Parts: sequence; structure tokens; C-alpha cells
Amino acid sequence: MLNVKNKLAIYRGNITKIGVDAIVNAANPSLLGGGGVDGAIHAAAGPQLLEECKELGGCAVGQAKITAGYQLPAPFVIHTVGPIWRGGKADEARLLACCYYNTLELVNEYRLATVAFPAISTGAYGYPREQAAAIAVKTIYNYLTDPAHGSIHRVYLVAFDKETEQLYRKELEKIAE
Ligand code: ADP
Repeated sequence: MLNVKNKLAIYRGNITKIGVDAIVNAANPSLLGGGGVDGAIHAAAGPQLLEECKELGGCAVGQAKITAGYQLPAPFVIHTVGPIWRGGKADEARLLACCYYNTLELVNEYRLATVAFPAISTGAYGYPREQAAAIAVKTIYNYLTDPAHGSIHRVYLVAFDKETEQLYRKELEKIAE
């Protein structure tokens, strides 16, 4: 059996360039585009992505919705809405874990083998990077350990900056296997 830890990989760079089955968008509840990674994904995918997003009727915090990838190398985009950091007492940790979990549920449902996540909520939404990295790694790892989710071959944690890359490395090292 493939070691679950080997299914987790760190990628440093621009998520719009990765040729995985699905890239994840850290969207806002309107799903009508924004700045940061959302803006980069819409710019790279082309205007058809916005047209499809308009049909989705928005997305609640912690939930996820799937669209085509259009001009992206990735055939699918999974849009999820992270929590805005409000100091840590507004259910942020559970909601951020829901983003990872519900996205992986779509990956599993669509029988996709590879998916790449940006560091959800750590930009404009202000989530502390270290805590967000811990939640990302723990939630993804726990999901992959369930044999029912065995068709997921690899999950990429995309770090846009060096600090995030190092935080992911640290969290992965904590996993004893
Ligand atoms: P949020 O509103 O969820 O905080 P942001 O887009 O502001 O979303 O930031 C989320 C993370 O995505 C940040 O760590 C940011 O550095 C990163 N990011 C921004 N652009 C890209 C990109 N093109 N590829 C990968 N990550 C990106």
C-alpha cells in the first residue's frame, strides 16, 4: 500500500501553472472573482470561468463547488470559501478544515487523482499562516488515511512564498510514518 505521507507534496509557485486534475480556488462567497489567487485563476482560465461561476449562486464559508478549468492546464477548478480571521473565536479553525475536507469530498466524488490547494484564507482573509498550515496538513492527511479515499493519488500544497513553504515542511515532518 502506498504510504499516505508520500501522497502529500509541497509545490512552490503559481497554482495556475500546475497540470493537476483540479486546482483549488480560495474564493469569496459570491464566486464572482476577487484578488489574490482568485484573480490569478480567473485571469488564467479566461472569461468562461466567470460565466460558469455566475450560475452557481455563490458558496457558503467552508463549502466547495466545482467548475471546469477552461484555459487552465487543470481540467477542473474547485472553489471553496475560507473563513475571514476574526481573532480565532469565530469558529475559524473548524471552517478552514471544512474547506479542505469538502474540497476533497468533491475530488473523491469526481474520481480525480491529483489536486492542488493554495494556502486558503492566509492572504486577504488574514488567517495566521502557521495555524492554517497545521490545519491543512492534518485535514488532508486524515482524509487520505481512509481507505475509501484511496483513488486520490497526490495532493499538492501550493506555497506562493518561502515562509509558507517552510511551514508546510515543518508540518509534514511532524507526521510520523
Ligand atoms: P484568501 O482571501 O483566502 O486569504 P488570497 O488569494 O488573498 O485568499 O490568499 C491565499 C493564499 O494564496 C496566500 O497565501 C497567497 O500568497 C496565495 N496566492 C496568491 N496568488 C497565488 C497564486 N497565483 N498561486 C498560488 N498561491 C497564490
